[in-house]
This record gives sequence, structure tokens and C-alpha cells, in this order.
Amino acid sequence: MHLIIAEKNIAAQRIAKILSGNGKVTATKEGGVHVYTFGDTISIGLRGHVVEVDFIEGYTNWRSQEHPPRSLIDADTIKRPTEPAIVKLIQKYAKKANRVTIATDFDTEGELIGKEAYELVRAANTKVPIDRARFSAITKEEITRAFSEPAQLDFDLAAAGEARQVVDLIWGASLTRFISLAAKRGGGNILSVGRVQSPTLAMPADREREIESFVPEPYWEISLTTEKDGETILARHASGRFTNKEEAQSAYEGTKEPLVVTDVKEGKRVDRAPTPFDTTQFIVAAARIGYSAANAMRVAEELYMNGFISYPRTDNTIYPPSLHLEGILTTLEKTKFAKDVEWVRRNRRAKPTEGKKSSTDHPPIHPTGVATEEQLGENWKLYELVVRRFLATLSPDAEWATMRIELDASGQTYIATGSRLTEAGWRTVYPYSEAKDSILPVVKKGEGLKIQDLNLEEKQTQPPPRYSQSKLIQVMEELGLGTKSTRHEVIQKLISRKYIEGNPLRPTLVGKAVTESLEAHACTITRPDMTQKLEQAMEAIKVKEKSRDGVIGDSRKMLHQVFDELEPNEAVIGQEIMDQTDEELTIGPCPVCGKDLRIRRKGGSQFIGCNGYPDCTFNISLPGTMWGSAVRTKKVCESHNLFFVSLVAKGSRPWEMGCPLCQLIEQQKEHYAKISSLTDAIAQKLLDAKIFSLYDLARFDPTVLAKKIGISKKQADTILREANEVLDIIRKRSECKKFMKQFIPPKRGRSHTKVMNGFAESGINSVEDIASAAIECLKKTGLSEEEAHTLKNEAISLVSKNKLKDIGIPAVSLKKYQEAGFLTPEDIVSAHPAYLAIKTGISIETVVKHVTLIAQSLGKPEPVKISKKVFDSGKNELIAIPGVGESTLEHLYRAGIIDKKTLLAAEPVQAAKLTGLSKDHVKKLQTAAGV
Ligand SMILES: [Zn+2]
Ligand SMILES: [Zn+2]
Repeated sequence: MHLIIAEKNIAAQRIAKILSGNGKVTATKEGGVHVYTFGDTISIGLRGHVVEVDFIEGYTNWRSQEHPPRSLIDADTIKRPTEPAIVKLIQKYAKKANRVTIATDFDTEGELIGKEAYELVRAANTKVPIDRARFSAITKEEITRAFSEPAQLDFDLAAAGEARQVVDLIWGASLTRFISLAAKRGGGNILSVGRVQSPTLAMPADREREIESFVPEPYWEISLTTEKDGETILARHASGRFTNKEEAQSAYEGTKEPLVVTDVKEGKRVDRAPTPFDTTQFIVAAARIGYSAANAMRVAEELYMNGFISYPRTDNTIYPPSLHLEGILTTLEKTKFAKDVEWVRRNRRAKPTEGKKSSTDHPPIHPTGVATEEQLGENWKLYELVVRRFLATLSPDAEWATMRIELDASGQTYIATGSRLTEAGWRTVYPYSEAKDSILPVVKKGEGLKIQDLNLEEKQTQPPPRYSQSKLIQVMEELGLGTKSTRHEVIQKLISRKYIEGNPLRPTLVGKAVTESLEAHACTITRPDMTQKLEQAMEAIKVKEKSRDGVIGDSRKMLHQVFDELEPNEAVIGQEIMDQTDEELTIGPCPVCGKDLRIRRKGGSQFIGCNGYPDCTFNISLPGTMWGSAVRTKKVCESHNLFFVSLVAKGSRPWEMGCPLCQLIEQQKEHYAKISSLTDAIAQKLLDAKIFSLYDLARFDPTVLAKKIGISKKQADTILREANEVLDIIRKRSECKKFMKQFIPPKRGRSHTKVMNGFAESGINSVEDIASAAIECLKKTGLSEEEAHTLKNEAISLVSKNKLKDIGIPAVSLKKYQEAGFLTPEDIVSAHPAYLAIKTGISIETVVKHVTLIAQSLGKPEPVKISKKVFDSGKNELIAIPGVGESTLEHLYRAGIIDKKTLLAAEPVQAAKLTGLSKDHVKKLQTAAGV
């Protein structure tokens, strides 16, 4: 008995019908599964995968202490039957079979489904020969051919599919579990995260941010209309978009009669016939006639299973030589398209059009069978699309006659363009894209015309467009995200999980929150790079360059890296997602413009911003999220009508901040107190004028400020000067804090702000101050001995670096001095140039130049010039002395002993002190040199 296993029931039925040679096929049902019998052959359809990959027992509990999300990365997986009735039936017939043919789809997924069937058969019957039939269409020719030349199962191809299954399971399960738990979500409310899904979601989410932050710019366009023989000519100013209103206005006013034709150009434009359909292009074309990507693929699959079109999952855009194009035309003669076929036959191009990609597994999507509208119903539209596209690829290019008229209106140039389809070509059989004529009347060069209408229009630049489904699929393909078989499914998943919605696609609140948080804390998940890498690794399995287990192992390592990024940020990620997704972030009306104030977060920082941004820039800064996420409480400030804010951190009591505006005003009072010319009365005037912060104040022009709050210009001048001085200190302190944060980690009871306050008490307000501060002062603020030393040294290094840079030492040399331990200008100027040269590897002449510069700036004596020649010959003299090697040389250079002469002239006791050698050693060298 011959057992045939197909991918789906419908395929099993059609294959049986074709192979029986239209003989009698008996259809029965066993355990709910269809079985098709003819002669000694039985054909059974699977339901795609009949087994699934899952983790071994013990990993189902999300909140298990023993198995946290990360443990899923290394958990073992098993295969579990999902369609027991089909599995049972296959094994029952496998026992009796003397030949088994696997006839699943021909691609990675199909090969894997085939391998699953293979394993089921082998488990029941170790001996029966198992072969494989591969075909690109379920038609009589293809099926007959495939079964008459059976091949073997491609285990490498299947292994690639298996790797994808396991990798996606591990990534999806561990990340989804981690993020959902972090954001305290469960049940039907989980936040799914995935290897392909998350970088795909990031595209519309990032785009939405771009759109939200887009500031439209005004521009102006000028057009005029004129007329010839009753036909209107619309001409646009040759400068196109004016970004300057005055220029536009002057061009507009300068446009006057006489209006004269200065040039007429006629030309021809070739409009290329479209290339054969691959999956992506098919989805794009289907989208134009109203199909979502998932729907288009579902219908295409159905059409394929029923033998109407070839396999719809293909990357190929070049018809292979083996494809019988003439035969397909003959087939189509029996359809509604007979007239189109006849036209194509008469006008056929020499060679069909070609795209850029050729692959060997499947040809481009093309029609394979005869269908009628009644038979297909709704699906007819996509069948027709495939047929017409096929016909178009055999049709000649279309041609347009073009016309360009240049006009002059008193020195202003205008241009009118027109075009007319002269050869419809492929457009005759492929009417999906509009071909609209815009015909211009015949005019001659030098001809005068009348201006009928002149228009100056103000327009605005537009933000980038949102993604459509088909555009997103195209970009996924470019970025190497997913495969031709999975891209549309990924998008469908994002829609069904309510991450994106609408057409064009927009991210939902949740979609945005999850993406932004991942981008801030674990951007490897949202960037395409890692997925691309895995995608390539899986391709390599197909050609035996990599093993399945190797790729899965590598992906586990990558995922561990991702968790290294994620785990320290668990609380922040969770809080960010929760906060962004709830509406509890609105604080109340903005004191400046009246729109809503809202708590906003970015990475580790948070602030209160105005919904009127960018028109209104009012904002209140808040402590970083490490002190807790800011949320509003139930209390409301009576004077400002704003909700109170508190900082909530896991495991500690919330930090009640009160009314954020009252806080801001209080804070500014501290600043204002430092401005001696600012009296309480003026401070009140500033508040009344809604100038809430020192930053806002310092930006004012003195005249404007004087007028706004009713003080004299002189008063305003003084206040502003002092305000800027205070601001300068604040800026320095903020730089200082940033610097300190790099080296001093926050600890319980030792916040960065607390350290800074301690610094201020000791008069330390800048990086320079740290560099010159006593270690004891630094330690007073809670730094350990080691931290204090590190911080001071880093400050010295940074300050010195900046000083040396200012003096004119190039960055390359600077690095060499620092590496050799010469940090400060003083370090350098007090060392002998010869010693510096040997320690840094910088040439002696350059060192002398540097030391001279530094000495000049410090007001110290300049070094003696030493030429390279003198230096080199002195070095040779010293090296020639017995007992002098590189290390002794270094000692001698320290004391400025650079040749025999200086050695002999040196006073031994003094030289011993400077070189660090013993007196006797120096004397011995002098004796040796004197000989
Ligand atoms: Zn506002
Ligand atoms: Zn208040």
C-alpha cells in the first residue's frame, strides 16, 4: 500500500484526484479525518503542523521562584502532538504501507512539517521506504511529474525550520513572560514580545514619535493659468517651493504680462511593464485593491491549494526557463481572459520582464489553472490580479508623449507640463494603476498669452507618512526581518495583540509604551540587527554551513545578553509601561497656557511637560526615575489646581513631593535669594508675569523684561546680569554632578543630590574644584577613601586635559603623555624633555616644542632646545658605555644627562638624587665614560 501525506486535507484530495487519472477516488472519514483511497493508494492531509514544540514539564507557572523567565532560555524542549486523531491515523496506515510519500509544501516550513510526518511514520514502521514529492503548483502536470521522480526529504532544510521554531519559542516565551511580569500583567492581558515582532513594531512606533514631534514649516507656491484655443494651461513658478515669504511675495508681484512662451519641448517617456510577482509585490498589489496582507495570503493559499495559481510564497521574480509560458497562455484561452491572451499573443514582447531576484525553489506567482467568477466568488479578484500580472509581464512597455512649456512673465519663469499615453502597451491588460492624460494645447515659441489667474498659496511641510501594511512588509524584507512566509503573519499578530491599529498603521498606547521602554533599556530587542543575524544563521543551516543545535545555542547566548540588559531595569521597565498606559499622568492645567500638564519619562529621567509643547515650553523637572516613578496622588493644590505628585519606588515608602508648581516656585526662591538685586516685590512681579524659573528669567531681553514687570531698564540690566551669574554656577554644578555620577554610584542614603549638597558646603561647585579639593573634604560627603581618590584623579585628568588642549597640545600627543603618567601641565614641564621623549615615544623635537608652550603659559623657564641629531648621537655615546642599557638611560635622562659631556660634567651627589641611581653607580659610569 502507498501512503501519501499532504500538507492539508484539500491538497490530499486534489492529489488523489490527479493521480487516480480521474479514476474513482473513495472518500471516507476515520476519527473525523478525511481519507482518500484509489487503487492501492491512500492520501491523507495533515493540518499543517500536527505536533508543536514546547518546554518540558515544570515551566508553566509564570511566578515560579525556581523557574524565573530567564530559566526558559536554557530549558529543554519537546514535541507534543496537537492533532492526535491525525497522528493516530498516519501511524495506523504507516504500519501497513510499503511506500510512503511526503507531499507537503515545498519550502522550509513544509519540509519541517514533512519531517514531523517522517518521524511519526518511522515510529510506527522502521523499514518502509519514505520518499518526498516536491511541486510548485497542484496541477496535473506538476503533480504527475513530482510523483514520477520522487526525491528524498531534505533534513537540512527541515533543520532550518526546526531551529526557527525553537528559537522563536525561547525568545517569545522568555521575553513575553519577563515584560508581562515586570508590568504586572497576566491572563489575557499579557504583553507579547518577540524576536521578529518587536523590531517590526518599533517601526510604526518610531514613526509615530517622528510625526508627533514634527514641526511643520510654512512654504509658498505660485501658479498661474492661461489659455489657448479655449484650453487651460496651468503653469507653476520655476522656483517651486519658496521658503521665504518675502521672496515669494516679490516673485508674485513681479509676475506681470507680457506672458511669452520661451521654450517648448516635446519628448517621449517609456513606462516599463511590471515584473513577475514575488510574495511581497503580490501583497503590495493586493493592498491597492483593498486586501490586508494576511487576507491576500489566505486567499492566495486557497487558490494554490485548488490548483488555480502557483505556490504563493516565493522570492523569485524571474521566470525559470523550464516554465512553459506558452502553455499557460493556452490554458488562459479557456477563461474570461481569452481576448487579453489574444492581444498579448499579437503584441508579445521578445522576452518576459524580469525582477532582480532569482531563486530555484519556486517560480514567480503565476496562474496554473482555469477558473470562473462563479466558481471563485470573492477570491476571483485576486485570481484575476495574478492572471493580469502574468499577461502584463509578457506585454510591451507603454509609452507617453510628454510636453514641457516654459513661460516668461516679466522676468519670472513658469513651467507647464503635460503628458499623453501614446502606446498603452501592458496597460491594456493590467488596468490597476491609473494612466491619466494631462494634455497641453499646441503653442509656439515666442507666442504671447494672457494671464488669467495668478495664485500665491501658503502651504505647510508634512510629517513623514505612517506605514501601510504592504509598505511595512517591504521594509521588513529590506531589513531581513522574518521570511516571505511569516512577514504578513507577524503584522497580523501585532494587530490582534492591539499593538498597532488602523490603516495606515498607528501604534496603540500599549504598543508605544512597550517599544519605548525596550528601546530605552534593551534596544537589542527592538533593533533589527540580532534578528537579521539569526535569520542568516538559519539560512546557513540549509546549506550545511551551520548546525541546528549550533544556531539554537548561539541564539541562547544572545538572549542571555539581552537579559543582562533587561534584568537590572526590570522595575523601571515595568513602571514605565504601566505609567504610560494608564491615564493617571495628567496633573492639571498649565499655568502658562492652560493646556494639560502631564508627567513624561524618557530613559531614566522624568519631568512634567505641557501638552501644548512645542508652542508652550513650560516644564518642571523631577528627580530621576531611580528615586521612584512620579505619579499623581489624590490631593490637589488649591492655589494651582494641580494634582500632587509622589515618587514611587519598589520596596520603599513613596516620596511625597506635593504640588509640583509650588515646589518649583519654592526652588526658584532659593535661586532668587542669590540674586541680591531681586527684591521680594520683584520676585512677586515675576510670578504674576508667569515667569516661574531662573532659566526663563535669564533668557529675557532687559528692555522686554523691564516693560513686562514694570521696572526700570537699569534694574532689569542688573537683575539679568546677576541671574546669568547664578545660572552659570548652576550650570557648572550640573556639569560637576554629571561628572561625579560617572564614577560614584548612588547608594541608599547617598543620592547624587546629597553628595552634591555636601560638595557645596565645602565650596566645591565644579570639576576644577574637585581636582583641587582635599581628599578629606570629598570623604565628608560619604565617599570612601578609594572613591575620593578615583574622583579626584579623574578630575585632575580631565581638568589637565582641557588645560593642555587649550595650551595647544594635540589630542594624539595628549593621550601619549597621559598613558605615560604625565597628567598635568606641571607634570610635563617639570620633567626633562629627554625623559619625556623616551617615556612617551614622542620625538625629542616635538617634546621640546610642547614643553616650551607649556612653560610659556605657566610662566616657567623654557627648556633648552635639543635637536634630534644631538639627542641621537648623545644616546649612542651613552649606550656605548659598558653597563648602560635602556633602563639606565631612562635614569640618566631624568637628570638631564643626555650625552658623555653632560655625564662627565654632573656632580655625583646631585646626579644620584635626580637619577635615582646610587652615587657609586654614577661615579662608576663617569669613570667608564672618561676612559
Ligand atoms: Zn503650557
Ligand atoms: Zn501649587
